[in-house]
Amino acid sequence: MRYTSTRDNFSEITASAAIVKGISDDGGLFVPSSIPGLPDLNDLIGKSYQEIATHILSLYLEGFESDEICDIVDKAYGEKFESYLIAPVVLKEHVGFIELFHGPTQAFKDMALSILPYLMTSSAEKELISDEIVILTATSGDTGKAALEGFKNIEGVKVVVFYPEEGVSPIQKKQMVTQEGENVFVVGLKGNFDDAQRGVKNLFMDEGLNEWLKTYGVRLSSANSINIGRLIPQIVYYVNSYLNLVLKGKIKLDERINIAVPTGNFGNILAASYAKSMGLPVAKLICATNDNNVLADFFRSGKYDRNRPLVTTSSPSMDILVSSNLERYLYHLSGESSHQIRRLMDTLASQGEFEMDLSENRDIVAGQCDEKEVSNWIRKVYLEDGYVMDPHTAVAYGVWQKYKEETKDETFTLIASTASPFKFSDKILASLGEDVSDNVFDNLIVLGNLAKTSVPDALMSLESKPVKHTTVCKPDEMKKVLMNYLLGGESHD
Ligand SMILES: *Cc1c(COP(=O)(O)O)cnc(C)c1O
Repeated sequence: MRYTSTRDNFSEITASAAIVKGISDDGGLFVPSSIPGLPDLNDLIGKSYQEIATHILSLYLEGFESDEICDIVDKAYGEKFESYLIAPVVLKEHVGFIELFHGPTQAFKDMALSILPYLMTSSAEKELISDEIVILTATSGDTGKAALEGFKNIEGVKVVVFYPEEGVSPIQKKQMVTQEGENVFVVGLKGNFDDAQRGVKNLFMDEGLNEWLKTYGVRLSSANSINIGRLIPQIVYYVNSYLNLVLKGKIKLDERINIAVPTGNFGNILAASYAKSMGLPVAKLICATNDNNVLADFFRSGKYDRNRPLVTTSSPSMDILVSSNLERYLYHLSGESSHQIRRLMDTLASQGEFEMDLSENRDIVAGQCDEKEVSNWIRKVYLEDGYVMDPHTAVAYGVWQKYKEETKDETFTLIASTASPFKFSDKILASLGEDVSDNVFDNLIVLGNLAKTSVPDALMSLESKPVKHTTVCKPDEMKKVLMNYLLGGESHD
């Protein structure tokens, strides 16, 4: 099993090299040179999440010993998760929710970012890299916190996160400034998420800085969702959930299901499509977007057009105009034509749009769900099923309902439930017609009573956690702040 770039599939590299590099020098994303098949599902049924993970990872990680993979999986998916099932499936009459939010930060990013640190340190060892790795991330909320939790206290690694000081929710801000760990540094940026992202990109491309860091034995790396080490672990929960449905008698083995995914950067749904290509019995993948509906338009028309304003919604992790991981799906769809993908991505970069013939696409259907519909579905599903969806999950639910109405497709459907509703208690309480307090912790308690579940400790305990990070800077000070920290000048505790 080797990896190749979506924009130049002439040369191949190992799994560990792809994980350490993150992105190919030609700007393309690494993809496996062939997609492995699943073993007989009969042999996997009844196995634990960790056993299934070990099995699937082994198919993709040539060069890693099976003991090593087993050890990595156990460290990643252990007691940091509040459910021993890791990604439990909650069944309602016609639908199942794969709850991907039981990790340390209560959002789906934990599924990949709790294992990426171990994959990365193992890969660096295999690539004979002894430099200290500094994970540098700009975040709009979820990714940064999940990276901090995933990489905290991992030897040989530091994590630096820039978040827009006024651009994250109150609870997300609390999560940032109270972050614990010996090797973490969190900086509030006076600017928006775009400023943070641009600033971080500039740091990566700053040759002077990177040369200077090299003399100290330090190299910058990224934890963003284009790293193949984030994608592969996400295949696991689709296989695991399918087997769960069989075990619970909801479907027969080999019966096909649909999967609906609230989509932003296209990583989560891409993992589902890999699972399908590996042989998981899946019929349709339902790609759900919010008001930022670039993908929904694309799958309907074949025209990808990012030339439109970004809309702020109650599902912020899907407020995205360029979905990086789509490139991988299109690469496979094009019959692995890296030539065509390079051309399309050049057009996207220069004109903000491209067109592609989608007649070969039989897997993905797409749709969108606006703010009002999200509120309506949150209320309806709560009243009818007693289940509280977060706004991202509600987008997927709404798009699935529309799809069902249009197609009369009654196939059993799994919905990827990507965040704890407690992370978005304001929106949920408002949707349910409840009063919303200015005190976010009061809202957590009210929501807990309505949902008849206890408030996740990871969120409730934030109220009493001491603030550890007070550094704030302007976009043009990011480099100075980073250098200060790396030189040990900035106390972060
Ligand atoms: C990141 C995220 C998404 C979108 O997932 P992609 O893999 O980027 O498509 C959806 N919901 C939540 C809560 C997220 O954090």
